[in-house]
Amino acid sequence: MGLKIFIDGKFFDKKDAKISVFDHGVLYGDGVFEGIRSYNRKVFRLEDHLDRLYAGLNVVRIKPPMPREEMQAKILETLKINDLDNAYIRVVVTRGIGDLGLDPRKCANPTVFIIADRIKLYPPEFYEKGLPIVTAKTLRNHPGAMPPMVKSLNYLNNILGKMDAIDAGTNEAIMLTTDGHVAECTGDNIFIVKNKKVITPPCEIGTLDGITQKVVIELAENRGLETCVGMLKPQDLYSADECFLTGTAVEIIPVIRIDGTTIGKGTPGDVTKALLRDFSKITGVEGVGY
Ligand code: PMP
Repeated sequence: MGLKIFIDGKFFDKKDAKISVFDHGVLYGDGVFEGIRSYNRKVFRLEDHLDRLYAGLNVVRIKPPMPREEMQAKILETLKINDLDNAYIRVVVTRGIGDLGLDPRKCANPTVFIIADRIKLYPPEFYEKGLPIVTAKTLRNHPGAMPPMVKSLNYLNNILGKMDAIDAGTNEAIMLTTDGHVAECTGDNIFIVKNKKVITPPCEIGTLDGITQKVVIELAENRGLETCVGMLKPQDLYSADECFLTGTAVEIIPVIRIDGTTIGKGTPGDVTKALLRDFSKITGVEGVGY
């Protein structure tokens, strides 16, 4: 049986899962989304994802297509119908079908669709040996232009950053704020470890309020490590003992080179490896990234 995709109350086969070209999600990236994982048929941090989804809808003033409890039930139903043990679930809510103008008032009903599939971002060797990354030429959206707590459907800023990474022969890039601070990577939050202190930039400067970021802070604190949400400059990264990225899709991936500068010993650091082990324990799935 092929994938079954939920759209506006019904399940469709992948080939029939279509939305209108007049949907403002397609025309303008007017919508919000979530990327969620399930491990051993249990959805990981679903409450946090629903919190972020409904907060985002509220900020951009899209009427929720259904109450939160029903959304939760539909996510679980999509997972069940697709019979996947470990899945990546994409929930998308757009402003809905309108006309060719921007006017959101013309969109009477939001569109919602849910896909449960698998995802594998990087080959296993990057998790074992670490990822080389670069600083993107493209700056991260200013928080005054795009509220950072909204996981908006408009990812062109991130995609331009990703293309900078690819142009530089790497897979991921750090995006800086307009005043030169480290914000995050194109699809992940960033952490450094310096003298056993675990540091990640704050959401207010324009990064996504990452759910994996929050989990990793909890794991670090459980290990008795000092954690800090604070401002970082590129030179702080170059002089860090360790660096790693976090995200629902990527989970935790070590970074061993930034802009050609070797980080720490050039291999995944001890704190990163310990956090990777702790993360596997809470998901119940061995070998992060598969
Ligand atoms: N930053 C950006 C830009 C993202 O798209 C994501 C999610 N892929 C993250 C950070 C990580 O967030 P989370 O851990 O909630 O998936």
